[in-house]
Amino acid sequence: MNFDLSATQKGFLQKLDSACSSIREYEEKCYLDERMNDRIVPIFGPLGMLGCPVSKIYGGLGYDMLTYALAIERIGAEGASMRTFFSVHTSIGQLVLQSWASEEQKKEYLPETVTGKKIMAFALTEPSAGSDPSSMVTKFEKKGDHYVLRGKKHWIGNGTYAGTMTTYAKDAGTGKISAFIVDGDSRGLRKVEMKNKMGLLTVKNAEIFFDSCSVTKKNLLGKEGQGLSIAFSALVDGRLSVAAGAVGIMTDCLAECARYSKTREQHGGPLAKKQLIQDHIARIAVSIESSRWLVYRAAVARQKLHEYVETITDKGEYWQARLGRGNSEYSELRSRADMLAALAKFHASNSAFDAANRSVQVFGAAGYVKTARVARHFLDSRATTIYEGANEVLELKIASQILGKEYTAY
Ligand SMILES: Cc1cc2nc3c(=O)[nH]c(=O)nc-3n(C[C@H](O)[C@H](O)[C@H](O)COP(=O)(O)OP(=O)(O)OC[C@H]3O[C@@H](n4cnc5c(N)ncnc54)[C@H](O)[C@@H]3O)c2cc1C
Repeated sequence: MNFDLSATQKGFLQKLDSACSSIREYEEKCYLDERMNDRIVPIFGPLGMLGCPVSKIYGGLGYDMLTYALAIERIGAEGASMRTFFSVHTSIGQLVLQSWASEEQKKEYLPETVTGKKIMAFALTEPSAGSDPSSMVTKFEKKGDHYVLRGKKHWIGNGTYAGTMTTYAKDAGTGKISAFIVDGDSRGLRKVEMKNKMGLLTVKNAEIFFDSCSVTKKNLLGKEGQGLSIAFSALVDGRLSVAAGAVGIMTDCLAECARYSKTREQHGGPLAKKQLIQDHIARIAVSIESSRWLVYRAAVARQKLHEYVETITDKGEYWQARLGRGNSEYSELRSRADMLAALAKFHASNSAFDAANRSVQVFGAAGYVKTARVARHFLDSRATTIYEGANEVLELKIASQILGKEYTAY
């Protein structure tokens, strides 16, 4: 498997590295003040990071999934809070449109998300529908040339400031779930910030209320009844970005532990010379390498699926294939991408939380304050085992792919 990058891709990642270093201090300040980092768009927009894997046709950089994963890994080192902003905007935002929207919808929506004029969100979860989105109660009905949505979503990342979001609702008659593109300023749409989060303090989550929210018929995403297929395919990209970001968390934990343990002296010498401290450091290093391998393989598998889809020119065959019908090559590539993303997210997120926990231990009391990077990684990495498919649900998914569909646990 070849993970080599071109000079252009390397140049992009170098610029991104400088941008991440330049925003570090400000991100910390925003985190401690619990406010959104308002410099992300002006700093990362001109670099193209607000549309890294979005096709050049719509103004993006058009990079492959491996380059995007490497970019997310680097951003992840600045914290899962900042990284979550990008993952929501791109992985479960723009890529959903790129994969499922009509040409007309892509042209209308993608370019302004790439410039940062509009930030994206993905509104699936509801109070009664978390791990099981099929139990959602948000409903839609058709009224003339509009759909009318009624219901409530919660925990929606970027939700307070999203200019465009995708959402998912049940047909009030048939119960089938469809996906919609919703403008942030739609009539009947209300966004309320969720307070008192444990971590991820520079990215904002919202409750989204659809109070008879009117969505024009041309904003149906995909076809009626395809909502869950769309949401589940979005989560594959979401998992990949969470996993890549988790690698970033671990690289920063390792750097912080190495730096601190060399300078902090106890019992007549630096902590770095104590073998039990070295155990923490060695284990974090092992977790980084094992997670990286999974993330890069998952990224390549996702890219292969994307490239295969591009080769299907027959529209009818294309839609059937996406729904998993009648195209064994597509199904195989999709299962592989799905499986590897689940493995990568499960392993990397558990490892990142463990690495952050070890890092706080290495720092002792100095790691128990939010001004310490390792403390913020500890609080933020906790979310990575919950969102984009809680890790228990991913375990069930991994096991059922191995055992066969008849052993699906639920
Ligand atoms: C910080 C954060 C950001 C988020 N951002 C978004 C977003 O942008 N958009 C969005 O739509 N949602 C978002 N979410 C919601 C997230 O996707 C859900 O929290 C997640 O899917 C889990 O759902 P739940 O919290 O309702 O937990 P539940 O589904 O109630 O699960 C609770 C626990 O039970 C376990 N469990 C569930 N079913 C089973 C089973 N069959 N067998 C064994 N164990 C099981 C779960 O793994 C979990 O550990 C976010 C959540 C957080 C915390």
